[in-house]
Amino acid sequence: MFINDNTSYLCVVSVMGGIKVIRGGYLIDGTGREPLEDVVVVIKGREICEVSKEGTIEIPSSAEVIDASGMTVMPGLIDCHVHLSGSRSVNPFERLRVPRYLRILRASVDARKLIEAGFTTIRDVGSEFGPALRDAIAEGTIVGPRILAAGKPISQTFGHGDWHYLPYHWVKEFAILADGPYECRKAVRLVLRDGVDLIKICTSGGVFSEKDEPAWPQFTLEEIEAIVDEAHRVGRRVAAHAEGWEGIKNAILGGVDTVEHGDQIDEELIELIKEKGKILVPTMAIDDAMVKHGEKAGIPTWAMRKIRELRSVNIRNYQKAYKAGVRMAIGTDYGGPEIFPMGGNAVELELRVKLLGAKEMDVILQATKIAAEALGLEDKIGTLEKGKLADVIVVNGNPLKDITVLRDVSNIRIVMKEGSIVVNRGISKA
Ligand SMILES: [Zn+2]
Repeated sequence: MFINDNTSYLCVVSVMGGIKVIRGGYLIDGTGREPLEDVVVVIKGREICEVSKEGTIEIPSSAEVIDASGMTVMPGLIDCHVHLSGSRSVNPFERLRVPRYLRILRASVDARKLIEAGFTTIRDVGSEFGPALRDAIAEGTIVGPRILAAGKPISQTFGHGDWHYLPYHWVKEFAILADGPYECRKAVRLVLRDGVDLIKICTSGGVFSEKDEPAWPQFTLEEIEAIVDEAHRVGRRVAAHAEGWEGIKNAILGGVDTVEHGDQIDEELIELIKEKGKILVPTMAIDDAMVKHGEKAGIPTWAMRKIRELRSVNIRNYQKAYKAGVRMAIGTDYGGPEIFPMGGNAVELELRVKLLGAKEMDVILQATKIAAEALGLEDKIGTLEKGKLADVIVVNGNPLKDITVLRDVSNIRIVMKEGSIVVNRGISKA
């Protein structure tokens, strides 16, 4: 029944049923290898069991066959920087006025929108709801991507994660404030109690923190080292919000795993981040939306001033980082308001092609292989290879020729997560 006797023979014949086959598509496998025409991807249960050229294996009659002819087959996309906070407004006071229950319901819809747009994994780098949404999705209660959740961010007092405009005693609803290495260790242990997958810290000021500046460093090196040590001891990664130069430098030296935003990265820090093997997660999508639509949407003037200042330097800095070969992963910083809506996240890939001059293949790797590395999940997801979890999307058009096809969700015809078809936009199964 099988044409050749390679390993796929054993793989396919050894199971009874439960096999899905995606055939006939143009394969971008996420490894960076040359794309292949007319592929057959065989999925057994949750995993990819074979990736071959059409004709090299015979498809078993019991298999559920998805005809991807004329379409692109690629790994599910990964956004390494979102906030599932159920936000619908850019007004920083929204979370005080809108009941928590309403925000949770919105966030669960946002999770669905992410997977409907082809994002099969996301990293929530700070929201109270992340761990609960992750679990609700994993147990099948709601539909959404695989989530790695940071829970509440950890900030110094008067830091980016401290909501300076709120009364001090309200802030603990949204963040954990810690000062000095001892409190920093305790803060990590407190968020670990919430069952988080990673730790999010803020090592510089930011745009949406009213009274600080992105250039100001936050947490001392000693404090960052304490956080990283405590997190790494229990196998959790640390993601650092770091926009200013000194905050980026301290984050890298302190041993964090990913540098978020990284606006003021320069030649010296480019060398440092490469030397230490860390991953940069620029978030150009939110910058672009804020600069274009922020004023009209009602973003406060103090935040608009700061984003314009950062934007005037960060594109050039990201260009340099890209050209120097810094490992970069996709992040959007989207959170749900109309100007940064969940589901529109693929705009980040488009901006990197347009504004950084990045090659389409490179940004696809940033959204797949390198993003998986940023999450520490490179053994499980990010590429379409034998033994990986079957997170697969089938897309109308060829994103290597036109990266914008990924942004139109109607082009995302099939979304498969761990071997289950979560979205099917009109592809009939044989
Ligand atoms: Zn963020």
